[in-house]
Amino acid sequence: MSGDWERATRVMPGGVSSPVRAFRSVGGTPPVVARAHGAEIVDTAGRSYVDLVGSWGPLILGHAHPAVLEAVVRAARDGLSFGATSVREIELAERVLARYPFAERVRFVSTGTEAVMSAIRLARGATGRERIVKFDGCYHGHSDGLLVKGGSGLATLGVPDSAGVPAAIAGLTEVLPLDDEGAADALFAKKGGEIAAVLIEPLPANSGLLVQRREFLAHLRALTARHGALLILDEVISGFRVAPGGMTELTGITPDLVTLGKILGGGMPAAAYLGRAELMERLAPNGPVYQAGTLSGNPVAMAAGIATLDALAGPGVYSRLEALGAELERGLAGALARAGEPGSVARAGSILWLCLQPPPAPRAWHAVRREGAARYAALHRALLARGVWLAPSAFEVAFLSLAHTREHLARVVTAFAEALAERAPAAGPR
Ligand code: PMP
Repeated sequence: MSGDWERATRVMPGGVSSPVRAFRSVGGTPPVVARAHGAEIVDTAGRSYVDLVGSWGPLILGHAHPAVLEAVVRAARDGLSFGATSVREIELAERVLARYPFAERVRFVSTGTEAVMSAIRLARGATGRERIVKFDGCYHGHSDGLLVKGGSGLATLGVPDSAGVPAAIAGLTEVLPLDDEGAADALFAKKGGEIAAVLIEPLPANSGLLVQRREFLAHLRALTARHGALLILDEVISGFRVAPGGMTELTGITPDLVTLGKILGGGMPAAAYLGRAELMERLAPNGPVYQAGTLSGNPVAMAAGIATLDALAGPGVYSRLEALGAELERGLAGALARAGEPGSVARAGSILWLCLQPPPAPRAWHAVRREGAARYAALHRALLARGVWLAPSAFEVAFLSLAHTREHLARVVTAFAEALAERAPAAGPR
């Protein structure tokens, strides 16, 4: 065990500030990070890795992008926090609303968890109803009512729920399977009048990458509208990643509320929820739904977000992300085929998931075969040893950035082919 990791475990639970970072489901000792630039991350032992985690989504420009750094330094010189409205908040708000034209107001918070938690409070306040609906395998942060059949760390650790969540709160969360119109219809037939909102990742990416049919999302839109419930699209991952206006733009579906995070803060803590003025003006101070934050709209985080969105507005950015994603998909899928390994690569633009089960790629969490996890653990270790940093979980996706080059991708594919050839016995989690 590396000295730094051991030190970490003596002072922080599991050695981490967020559970999946601990490598519990893949085994081995997590490298402790010293620094990162572009597409590469360097540990305290001086080893360099091609990074396919990208801080779990925010770093679409790569690590320490010069324009973002410059904006952050300039903002920091102007003061780290004001506790009052600042110009950078207005500038980021204008950019967000330009990319999500259905929305007229945006409220900034600091994390995706807060954004979704607050959007739900607003939905409950606006409808006067208490029940919410989420989907099995989707992750929406760690607020009490959403740690019910969640993805991300919950899927990784094989625990559907969390201790410490009062049954009375979890009982207000209805959980449906993805990709199943009939199940949604049946729930609404029974409880439609009690449901404040349906919450979904329009591109579920926390329990593998479970690409949904547009018709399914459109069905949820029509169903919620018919029953007076709101539709909340959680675009914390997909926002600005799959298109400037995320899945809202790609699907053309108009939600009531959208939640954003990750890329919005360009690697700094910033998140937001947005919607029509009529809904958003129900927030305090104009309305009765209370939500607040000492560091909300932090000027340094706003500066990172502005610089990131401006860089993403450059020509050919999304086609380059698509081309990089397609190239890595081809390379990984080719290596799987040549090795005779069952599996496929699910992909949406620059988000990829190595799905280690026979095709077709699943669209719902119950269709994801858990046996893939042991095989993934062996591949993860073999890849890390070859300088490729994949998410330490079979059910987390890989993120590419504009800093990845074709050479980086070639290194990943070569390492992957070698790892497959090694056919290491799949050791269980440590
Ligand atoms: N929603 C989605 C779709 C997410 O993927 C995440 C985090 N991965 C969250 C919400 C919570 O965001 P945060 O970790 O910033 O609280």
